[in-house]
Amino acid sequence: MEKKLVRHIGLVAHDAMKKDLIEWVLWNSELLIGHKFYCTGTTGTLILKALKEKHPDVEWDFTILKSGPLGGDQQIGSRIVEGKIDYLFFFTDPMTLQPHDTDVKALTRLAGVENIVFCCNRSTADHIISSPLFVDPSYVRTLPDYSGYVQRFANQAVVSEAVQSVQKRKTKKQQQ
Ligand code: PGA
Repeated sequence: MEKKLVRHIGLVAHDAMKKDLIEWVLWNSELLIGHKFYCTGTTGTLILKALKEKHPDVEWDFTILKSGPLGGDQQIGSRIVEGKIDYLFFFTDPMTLQPHDTDVKALTRLAGVENIVFCCNRSTADHIISSPLFVDPSYVRTLPDYSGYVQRFANQAVVSEAVQSVQKRKTKKQQQ
């Protein structure tokens, strides 16, 4: 039997955009059945309620994290870094400065770092969900190779230099 394609999808919406995201999810609900979802607290609770009302017989796989301003955006970011989320639909409010603006930036940055499929508005979300790649099991995003970055200190003597420098200071102090 062919294995069902399960996309791991993050859903987040700022307050002014929640209605938009709920509408978008309901509009595309047939396409979203069977996938796995990670959401910030309020967004996830509202979307799940709407989906259950529309499809009372469907078992939805939702992981609902903390509310965004209480750390939920960072939790989504950490799931991205762990490779658990490969799509992020994050409907941001372009007109209001958020109390957790730094977390919003961090989340969008990590989406870039991990090369996940990611958008911040409804029109782009429409294009992503209607892309043939969304339902193509052979499409797997390219995982960026950061080994060069991780190894950048491998051949450098920073640790031994630091040890020597501490040793020197200690010796100097003992001589005083
Ligand atoms: P919320 O968080 O779903 O808990 O409202 C979203 C956000 O503002 O990041």
